[in-house]
Amino acid sequence: MTSPFNFASAVLTWFDEHGRHHLPWQENTTPYRVWVSEIMLQQTQVATVIPYYQRFMASFPTVVDLANAPEDDVLQHWAGLGYYARARNLHHAAQQVAIQGGDFPQTLEGLMALKGIGRSTAGAILALACQQRGVILDGNVKRVLARFAAVTGEPNNADTQQKLWTLAESLTPHERVGAYTQAMMDLGATVCTRSKPLCLYCPLQSQCQAFALGTPAAFPEKKKSKSIPTKKAYFLILENPQQQILWVKRPPTGIWGSLWCLPEIVADSEDELLQILQQKFGLDDPDIDYLTNFSHTFSHYHLQLQPIRIKAIPSLLADSESQWCSLVQAKSLGLPTAMMKLLTML
Ligand code: SF4
Repeated sequence: MTSPFNFASAVLTWFDEHGRHHLPWQENTTPYRVWVSEIMLQQTQVATVIPYYQRFMASFPTVVDLANAPEDDVLQHWAGLGYYARARNLHHAAQQVAIQGGDFPQTLEGLMALKGIGRSTAGAILALACQQRGVILDGNVKRVLARFAAVTGEPNNADTQQKLWTLAESLTPHERVGAYTQAMMDLGATVCTRSKPLCLYCPLQSQCQAFALGTPAAFPEKKKSKSIPTKKAYFLILENPQQQILWVKRPPTGIWGSLWCLPEIVADSEDELLQILQQKFGLDDPDIDYLTNFSHTFSHYHLQLQPIRIKAIPSLLADSESQWCSLVQAKSLGLPTAMMKLLTML
């Protein structure tokens, strides 16, 4: 008689042979180290995350080191990873932990009370670092489960979420939960991939409903694609006679929150642009050099950046929210990718 299919043991057997066992956050595992890795991995692939993670850990080896670091320093370590709210939340949550004495919470509720930690991240920290039965449902796991059980409905819809959480809860084992958690993330990232899943190599194939239907790619349902708007903005390269450029710190909310960027002007016409340059920077009849424009896409809109360069302007007063820097110094401020791209034009 054949034994009934055991989901967790199929996944664990696969993991022992094919899973990832040498990621940096799998060494000296602590809740802090796992937490940082989970936040970095939220929108970013493992290979991209690894060097960022190593640099971050070298600078902020403990949660208290992170809590005590200036925000600029934390953002500088995040520059290029995008979704900067993650870094600001991480910093804020580290300060919450430091205020509570520096010990990381080890309960679901305690973890979820920290800024930026949701149910799945809290589950991952419990499972991977606290030897507790944490349950996760990140993007990779959602995809595996939606296919395995042919769960219909948009993945972010509340009913679908509920179905997937119930499934995740029921399938998570009581033994080897850390290995199982890593295994599910690895399976989603390397076998049950978004497009062209490698079903022939999958330990779940014999019971997978999406495979049986012949339509793995139909699960989970795609979000209805909304067309996103395009916005336009001028970005000013204001150069003083010492060839330094003016940088301004952006407000904490909105795109590139709290990062150093070139001054931005939104204007509908060149007349309006000239008017703003006069009002804001006292520039009368400036000699404007228009550089090649380019687009940068955020989750909710495309931004068309029009860089303009104005040379030999007198040094305006810099304050705590603005500074003059050489190109080399500017690169060490921790600039977002679009600003780095813009600098390569100079
Ligand atoms: Fe994903 Fe294919 Fe495995 Fe099903 S059999 S879980 S669709 S890789």
